[in-house]
Amino acid sequence: MDTLISKIWYYTIPLFSPAMLKLLFFGSVAIISNSHCLYELPGKTIKIQQRIYGKPKLNFLILHDDENTGKEAAEIYCSLIGGSITELCYGEVRNITFRNKKGNYAFDPNQMFESTGLYKSMRFYSKQAPTAKEIQPVRSLADSLLQRYKNLHTNCFITLHNNTEGNFNINSYLSGKLKTVADSVYVNPLMDADDLIFVTEASYYTYLRRMGINVVLQSTQAIDGSLSVYAQQRRIPYINIEIQHGHLTENLRLILVVEQMLKQLKMI
Ligand SMILES: [Zn+2]
Repeated sequence: MDTLISKIWYYTIPLFSPAMLKLLFFGSVAIISNSHCLYELPGKTIKIQQRIYGKPKLNFLILHDDENTGKEAAEIYCSLIGGSITELCYGEVRNITFRNKKGNYAFDPNQMFESTGLYKSMRFYSKQAPTAKEIQPVRSLADSLLQRYKNLHTNCFITLHNNTEGNFNINSYLSGKLKTVADSVYVNPLMDADDLIFVTEASYYTYLRRMGINVVLQSTQAIDGSLSVYAQQRRIPYINIEIQHGHLTENLRLILVVEQMLKQLKMI
C-alpha cells in the first residue's frame, strides 16, 4: 500500500505549492515515539530530538538547526508514509557555539565527525585555537547523536540540508575547492542548480543520473570531518538531499525519488 501511495505522490507532487502541501498533508501516520536527550557543552545545552512515525523505512538526520525546509518536507513525508526524524536543536542557527573560561568557540556540526576536521572548523570559526579540552566534548556529542541514529537500525544515512540561492550549488563541484570532493557530477540543466543529491555509492549515482536528478558522487579522497566522509570510510551508504530554502515541493519529490531508488536497489 505504501508503495502505491509513494508512486501516486511522485507523479502528483509537482501540482502542489508548498502552502497547499502544508495545509493538506498532515497527520495520517501517527507519531509512535517522540523522545529527546540533552547534551551539555560548556554554557550550552544541545537537544537531540527523535520522532518516529509508524514503521520507518527512511530515517532522516538533520544537523543544521536553521535548515527548516528539509525538516518540513520530512515531517510531511513521515506523516504520510512513515519514517523517522533525528535532529540537533541548538537555537535555529547554522553553527553551534559554546563558551568556557578561555573564550567563545564555534563549529559547523557537519564537521564534528572526525577530530582533524572538527579542529579545522573550530579554528576557522573561533578567535583562539581549540585544544583537546574543547574538541573532546564535541566529539562525544557527535558519538551520542550517531548512537541514537544507529539505534534505528538504518542501513543507510539520509541527511537533509538546505542552501541559499546563489551561494553554493551543483556547479560548485565542477571547479575550485569542492572539485576534489567529487568523483563524478551530473548536472541536469532543467533542474534548479541549488537542488541536488549528494551520495557515496556509485549505484545511487547511476540511478539518480538516469532519473535526471542533479547528483554528486563523493570522492574517496575527501577528508573534512563531515558525516559523508565518516559514512564512506565505514562503508555505510550516505545520501544528502540538498535543496534551496523554500523549495518544499522539490524537497518532497527528491525524498520520493530516493525512496524509489532504495526500493529498486533492495535497500529497504
Ligand atoms: Zn546543512
